[in-house]
Amino acid sequence: MSPELEAKLRADYPLIFTAQPIGDPDDPEVPAVPTLFATWGVECGDGWYDLIDALCLNLQYATKIGAPQVVARQVKEKFGGLRFYSDGPNDYQAGMIQVAALMSTRLCEVCGKRGRLVPNDWIKTRCPEHEKADNE
Ligand SMILES: [Zn+2]
Repeated sequence: MSPELEAKLRADYPLIFTAQPIGDPDDPEVPAVPTLFATWGVECGDGWYDLIDALCLNLQYATKIGAPQVVARQVKEKFGGLRFYSDGPNDYQAGMIQVAALMSTRLCEVCGKRGRLVPNDWIKTRCPEHEKADNE
């Protein structure tokens, strides 16, 4: 994801996209380690920015009304879909993450337009225009 959009996600959802090392709350002896997210950031295209933004808006709202705080561990594309690995989601929030993952396989990862899973060297989600661009 472009540094500008990633910075916007980090600024809008600082509790989800924390760069702080995370320890084990049940075991203070376990040293805190930086999350993969802190190290690698959002590893997907800009086309999923709105999807991730909408997901985080809902996750954070759920926290506001009593759900746990979700903390992103790793956010990336895999097999054409969004993977949003995190700590803390309850079943309700896990459902939101699942829907976002499913929707990502219908939205072009490059531009966000309607897309489809395209089996190429790697499976990617692309709109017709970017599917064509990948093959040129
Ligand atoms: Zn596209």
